[in-house]
This record gives sequence, C-alpha cells and structure tokens, in this order.
Amino acid sequence: MKHKVNSFFFLLIFIFEFYFLNDSEYFYPVLICTFLILILIIGCGVVFLKLRYFVPSINKLASDKVLLTFDDGPDSVITEKILEILEKNNIGALFFLIGEKVEQNRAIADKIVKCGHLIGNHSYSHNNFMAFSSTNEIVKECRKADIVLNKVCKDRPSLFRPPIGYTTPNYTRAVERLKTRCIGWRLRSYDTIYKTSEKMVKRLVLKTRKGDIVLFHDTLKVTSDSLQTYITEVQNNGIIFVSKEEIKTLFDE
Ligand SMILES: [Zn+2]
Repeated sequence: MKHKVNSFFFLLIFIFEFYFLNDSEYFYPVLICTFLILILIIGCGVVFLKLRYFVPSINKLASDKVLLTFDDGPDSVITEKILEILEKNNIGALFFLIGEKVEQNRAIADKIVKCGHLIGNHSYSHNNFMAFSSTNEIVKECRKADIVLNKVCKDRPSLFRPPIGYTTPNYTRAVERLKTRCIGWRLRSYDTIYKTSEKMVKRLVLKTRKGDIVLFHDTLKVTSDSLQTYITEVQNNGIIFVSKEEIKTLFDE
C-alpha cells in the first residue's frame, strides 16, 4: 500500500516537473534528483522490512512481552541447545524453518513442535535473491515449504518470513495469494556478524524493549552461547518473554 501511494505521489511530481519546468534550466537537475530520491526510497523499502513498504509485516507485539524468533534452522546441533535453554526458562519461541533443512533434520523439527514452540515458513531453499523472483516463483517456493512444514505440524498459524528480509512488489502479490502473515522483527541480534557473545549480548540487552520481536539464527554457535546470558540479563531488567503457554495462541486471529 505504501508503495502504491508513494508511486502515485512521485508520478504527480514528475507530471508537475514536465509541465511547469520543461523550459527551465533546472529541469534536468530537478528531474534527476527526483528520480534518485525515488530509487533511494524504493531501495530502503526492499532492504528494511520494518518499513512495511511492500508487505504489511508484523514487527512488534501488541503486548509488553518480548518474542524470540530463530531463522534458518533446524540445525542438528545448535537448535537442540537452544531448545534446552528455552525449556529451562519456560520461554516459547517462533522458529522460521527452511523446507529443505526440515527434510534433512526432521527429528529436530518435530522436537521444536513437541516442545510447544511455533514454526513458520522461511521458504524451501532460502534463495537470497528470492525477492527478485517472479510472484509465481515466490508462491511456488513457499507452497513447497508449506507441504514439508505441514507434515511436521498441520495445525499451525500461517506465518512467513522472507529470506534475508528483502521484499519487492512481487512479495505483495505472493503474500496475498498465499493468505499468509509476514512476520518481521524490531530488534536484530546481528548474530551473523558478532563472532563472540560478550559484545553481542551487551548491545542486545541495552536495546531490548517491551514488545520487541527479536531476530536470531539457530544455526550459529554464538547464538546458543549467548542465549542464556541474554535471557537472564533482560529478565533482570524487568522484561518478560513470551511463555510456552502464551505462544500457542499468540498469532491466533
Ligand atoms: Zn534466513
């Protein structure tokens, strides 16, 4: 919707420029500047899911609780460790699984559900350029993953997170056709960048606010190494995580 409104707005500006500035010496500089601003806005819309530019994603909770989400699993080693930590703290999390990884690690995917967590669709093959695929290809990728995920858990809310979080107008149409909800995040752990847990936890604890949806990856050692310290320190600040009981109905419509 934002994209459509913005495109219409810029169309009006271009018409205005062609109509009123056509004979002016400023015509080309103004035209180029307008075009560059439009490209910049669209670029930010593609990269930053939280802007909700192409897709109306959910990036924070309506409540004061904090939701932990884990992408790119299941992983035979790291996911297991994360499940243990979540169990110990009675925290319910949302795992965005990759279809082909579920096929390789089916037992871990089953365990995630058995432990009472939610699972969501993170595409079948996690193609980093998926945002630039056609609508049909995006729909095909997600449906292929849904078939695999439905074998793990039939009765689950339809939740989707795009690979690397990039979206385009093709996603707008794909999400509509799939009748799914796009889940983003408000706080990113940057566990793909930090090599050791100390700095990562320090930054993350400082940034965590009530209502945050936090993005982690259950494929990285730094994530499983950091998780318990992060949970303890955030709880010490009086912030509460979504519990295993609450996660069951968190995305019920
Ligand atoms: Zn991912």
